[in-house]
Amino acid sequence: MSATGVASPDAPPDDGFRPRQGVVLLVDDEGSIARAYARSLGAAGFEVVCAFDGSEAAAMARDRRFDVIVSDITMPQMSGLDLLRAVREHDLDVPFVLMTGGPTIDSAVRAVEYGALRYLIKPIDPPDLEDVVRRAVRLHQIARVKREALEMFQQEGKQLGDRAGLEARFANAIQSLWIAYQPIVSWSRRTTFAWEALVRNEEPTLRSPPDLFAAAERLGRVQELGRTVRDRVAQTMDRYPVPGLLFINLHALELDDDSLLDGAAPLSRHASRVVLEVTERAPLEEIPDATERVARLRALGYRIAVDDLGAGYAGLTSFAHLEPEVVKVDMSLIRGIDRSPMKQKLLASIVSLCRDLGIEIIAEGIETPEERDALIRVGGDLCQGYLFARPERPWAAIDFGR
Ligand code: C2E
Ligand code: MG
Ligand code: MG
Repeated sequence: MSATGVASPDAPPDDGFRPRQGVVLLVDDEGSIARAYARSLGAAGFEVVCAFDGSEAAAMARDRRFDVIVSDITMPQMSGLDLLRAVREHDLDVPFVLMTGGPTIDSAVRAVEYGALRYLIKPIDPPDLEDVVRRAVRLHQIARVKREALEMFQQEGKQLGDRAGLEARFANAIQSLWIAYQPIVSWSRRTTFAWEALVRNEEPTLRSPPDLFAAAERLGRVQELGRTVRDRVAQTMDRYPVPGLLFINLHALELDDDSLLDGAAPLSRHASRVVLEVTERAPLEEIPDATERVARLRALGYRIAVDDLGAGYAGLTSFAHLEPEVVKVDMSLIRGIDRSPMKQKLLASIVSLCRDLGIEIIAEGIETPEERDALIRVGGDLCQGYLFARPERPWAAIDFGR
């Protein structure tokens, strides 16, 4: 059946005396059911707009603000759960009530996972539906006031989603997660020294890894996300032997995860080829036994790198904590280094310090031949950056030509 969005023909006109209770988008592929619910909600004072399939409802929800969306789950082209996910991409607040005539544990779990407010089993008594819709509208008003208050305090828009919306987006990110790999090259030898694994996902609002990890922090799911990344990398290493070393970023909280230290974990089998990057941006002091945990990682065969040197506040204290085998210089020190005598001096002293300590040094974010040549002039050799290759599916080709 083709979908049409119509104001319910059976809803009583607004008589001007009764305050409107709220605007409901009602979605059901069975027209007779949609009209019956629309009639009873209309009689209770709600303005009801009907859609008879999910994609039409998704388009309507983009064009207009509703106070609540009530949708059937099982519909031919786009299910109610897919509709919920589509709406959450642009509206984190609107409450969702899902209805089904064939309840399953799987659909109930997914409804909760994606942030539905209620899961109703048909047939639904009209007074029960009215009650649920009335509460949902009230909740939406509270959420809107909360959001407006937060906006007044100028918090970043992307932090504002309610927990349900954030959970739905995070679940979408985890479901679509994949790993990109960017080469780290030795310029003097024109060979690939190693690859860095960088997390990617298809959830539009959490595309950048820092946003994804910020969401995981808010949801208390950093360790789960880190484990997923490590398991995926291990799977790739099982299937396609890595030509060189493999660098993986660790969030500071991952250091506190016992599964990282588990010799039977999938990545531990590859430990002798893996370098774990610990960023200088996060204070390691927050992990009480970080030094001891790093020692245990080494005992498993891992090597340790300090990431983003020069970007954090830790100065060189991370050297003492971690005694890294590798240091990665942050791209803020590399950008425009060919035109900055100050950056050249800084890098020259980092290179000579690392050489004295027997630490390998990698320059991140090299974009131009001039930046590469400036690095080589101060004694560097290992390079990572768009000049050579962007992060891609495993073991992409590298352009040494320029
Ligand atoms: P990072 O570890 O310092 O990674 C380098 C970042 O620079 C990556 O951004 C990479 O795509 C980007 N990049 C590489 N070459 C160039 C270049 O020539 N120019 C510019 N402008 N950028 C370049 P990405 O992938 O967006 O990751 C950002 C940060 O998110 C990473 O910084 C890392 O701290 C974190 N991250 C990424 N993946 C993971 C992960 O799997 N686990 C953890 N814990 N953190 C991750
Ligand atoms: Mg890194
Ligand atoms: Mg870095």
